[in-house]
Amino acid sequence: MTRYADFYRHSIDNRDAFWGEQAALIEWNTPPQQICDYSNPPFAKWFVGGTTNLCHNAVDRHLKTRADQPALVAISTETDTERSYSFAELHAEVQRMAATLQGLGVKKGDRVLIYMPMIAEAAFAMLACVRIGALHSVVFGGFASGSLASRIEDAEPVAVVSADAGSRGGKVVPYKPLLDEAIALSAHKPAAVLMVNRGLAPMDWQAGRDHDWASLREQHLNASVPCEWVESTHPSYTLYTSGTTGKPKGVQRDTGGYTVALAASMKHIFDAQAGQTYFATSDIGWVVGHSYIIYGPLIAGMTTIMYEGLPTRPDAGVWWSIVEKYKVTHMFSAPTAVRVLKKQDPSWLKKYDVSSLKALWLAGEPLDEPTAQWISDALAVPIIDNYWQTETGWPILTLANGVEQQTTRFGSPGKAMYGYAVKIVDESTGEELTGPNQKGVVGIEGPLPPGCMQTVWRDDARFVNTYWKSIPGRLLYSTFDWGIRDADGYHFILGRTDDVINVAGHRLGTREIEESIASHPNIAEVAVVGVADQLKGQVAMAFAVAKDASGLDSDAARLKLEGEVMKQVDHQLGAVARPSRVYFVNVLPKTRSGKLLRRALHAVAERRDPGDLTTMDDPAALQQVKDLVG
Ligand code: AMP
Repeated sequence: MTRYADFYRHSIDNRDAFWGEQAALIEWNTPPQQICDYSNPPFAKWFVGGTTNLCHNAVDRHLKTRADQPALVAISTETDTERSYSFAELHAEVQRMAATLQGLGVKKGDRVLIYMPMIAEAAFAMLACVRIGALHSVVFGGFASGSLASRIEDAEPVAVVSADAGSRGGKVVPYKPLLDEAIALSAHKPAAVLMVNRGLAPMDWQAGRDHDWASLREQHLNASVPCEWVESTHPSYTLYTSGTTGKPKGVQRDTGGYTVALAASMKHIFDAQAGQTYFATSDIGWVVGHSYIIYGPLIAGMTTIMYEGLPTRPDAGVWWSIVEKYKVTHMFSAPTAVRVLKKQDPSWLKKYDVSSLKALWLAGEPLDEPTAQWISDALAVPIIDNYWQTETGWPILTLANGVEQQTTRFGSPGKAMYGYAVKIVDESTGEELTGPNQKGVVGIEGPLPPGCMQTVWRDDARFVNTYWKSIPGRLLYSTFDWGIRDADGYHFILGRTDDVINVAGHRLGTREIEESIASHPNIAEVAVVGVADQLKGQVAMAFAVAKDASGLDSDAARLKLEGEVMKQVDHQLGAVARPSRVYFVNVLPKTRSGKLLRRALHAVAERRDPGDLTTMDDPAALQQVKDLVG
């Protein structure tokens, strides 16, 4: 067996040879002429000259050998339904969707925004887009009209695919009113809206713009829409993610590099075989949903499970009952979900036969050691942490057990994955910290490996300036995470270097939340920080100055305004971004030059020592925060 250390070195020292070998894992219509063009750093072009198609590799490719094998199983404990599609059936559904989108005017290079719950049609829509060379832009169903509007405006989709409603914990969440409002708010108006009607919520219909999927599907039952062979560098999708500015960034991914990267990860990281079953509990609105609910498992010829519902409903055994029923081999979830399960009766974990599981992978936020230990003891399978980002599309740090079995160290997501030249660097000098256990910023030397972002959608300058210019003295991709590497090459992630917070694995920019709160008529100024939370990892906490504080002298009045502010965030951004508390203060802690003392505020909100405060303007400001958080 190859030693991982050798495998890794080969990927870095012989980059083109390594990735040339990986390229053979997928099917090309025209093979690549050049493995990597890095003549214009930091822009990397992978598999130049090759043409391929993501949908072909995920679906059509398997028709020869596994047409009747289940490809997609969509389970909803919200609507009590289970729908299974073989590769042949998925192929037919995707073509129906592709023909429908074409009928609505969608062409190669156009964007299609997908705002959907976790239903099979969302997968059809994603696959249909890449089949015809259109770019999908999936927006998490938990986002509300303001978030949706900014994404519509940036992506300028020709069409939107949506559904009447999602459902959470048995409560119907209508999507159509939020979508209609978002389109009204956006300067860009999509020409067509395709609605999947689940019969959960009534819909206002806009004639001429809105179309019903069920009736258009009927018209295209026998549709035959061939895959469009696109250049390897043709973008497959954009996915928005939060950063330090209020405006989310459209992470743009290519086609060939992404397909190869996912195929390689299924083999080397997940040690997956065709015919096995993958269950990722994420949502298609996040990168894990793109890479490991839809594309990765399907590329590998696996059955993938899509799940709509909570981990605790109808009871805390529901996920393990799915594992037993479908003989799930690979499971992927987030630490928060495990912490939720940890609060339930542990007997739920013993009720089902989970012996089919090879491992449970967890990602999206730091995996604390007690949580890892608890689930490891309960399931008796390997627990594998993996660290990555929307930007990278697949793990940066984990264990490549398909190459060599390595021991998990709880608290560490593991080693640098092949292709990633991970560097720990000094924040202020950019100097590489090569010794063990030195804390620095986690950076990646260019070119980023295949599958990572190509650029920020329509904003090359933002790609360069945001990601590649933050470390002084060198062109290095910054993850904006602090980290250390121990003497054995295991890394530890120590939190963000920027103002991005991570609530239950959901990445949120504090600036976005601040902008939403500040748009309330009675808010003059606000600062949002992420505060450590036992269940969600972090929660947002807001400190606001009211424009008119005269009515805020009672608890009831403050609670009323707090409630209004929370409602406003729910409405504009979605409940995921709602702060846990909104405290009203007289002034925010600032320096004499008027700069917010964010680190000090953050420390005090977490009841820690705020450190050096010599530049602070008014010490009473921080004292008030201290008194409020108790
Ligand atoms: P997202 O782009 O939403 O996947 O968020 C990426 C960020 O989540 C990273 O930059 C980290 O801050 C955090 N993150 C993701 N996975 C892990 C992990 N396994 N351990 C620690 N932090 C993680």
